Amino acid sequence: MVEEYAFDNTEERRKNRQNGTGWIEVIVGSMFSGKSEELIRRLRRAQIARQKVQVFKPKIDDRYSIEQIASHSGMTHISKPVMTAKEILAQIEPDTEVIGIDEGQFFDMEIIQAVNELANQGKRVIIAGLDQDYTGKPFEPMPQLLSIAEFITKTHAICVVCGQTANYSQRTFESDARVEVGASGKYEARCRKCFVPHSDAPTVL
Ligand code: ADP
Ligand code: ZN
Repeated sequence: MVEEYAFDNTEERRKNRQNGTGWIEVIVGSMFSGKSEELIRRLRRAQIARQKVQVFKPKIDDRYSIEQIASHSGMTHISKPVMTAKEILAQIEPDTEVIGIDEGQFFDMEIIQAVNELANQGKRVIIAGLDQDYTGKPFEPMPQLLSIAEFITKTHAICVVCGQTANYSQRTFESDARVEVGASGKYEARCRKCFVPHSDAPTVL
């Protein structure tokens, strides 16, 4: 079962830390796959280790400007809403060791250079995001972030139709917009067999 794979490359990360190098960790998967939980878990562990942590998420709309990241299971962590990748760079304090970023798919391509810059400064950057949109297309800039990351974690949800491993976010309402803000409750996790990629997706199972 894919879900049981280790999410933690602790040994490799420790080697990097010993020689003072920064690095990039990317967590990707469908909605409900546990990306935010995994991000929050890593951030909490860093804080327990007394490392200075700063967390950001994209401010795509005023409804999303609450100062925290949250998982579907209720885990939360404080975070700063930002409009652009440049804003992240501007807010980083010199003694920050770990940087967390959630909803990475809502940043533009500048995020690539920004996280590279932070890792080059010796910081650990952990960025989580959706790797596919509701049609199953790669969701930029996550594919590019996967290319430059030292460590990659793919999380999976459970298909709500058949119980198998889910890799897709099924939209259960009509809309052609790639981003639907505040649409929580209108997506569900589906496996490859049960995913219906077009707008003729059944809304009732
Ligand atoms: P993501 O950030 O990938 O959207 P979250 O970390 O916010 O995921 O939420 C993961 C949690 O969502 C799970 O621990 C579980 O409690 C809940 N959940 C709800 N529906 C599903 C599903 N179909 N498969 C797996 N987890 C689900
Ligand atoms: Zn299924």
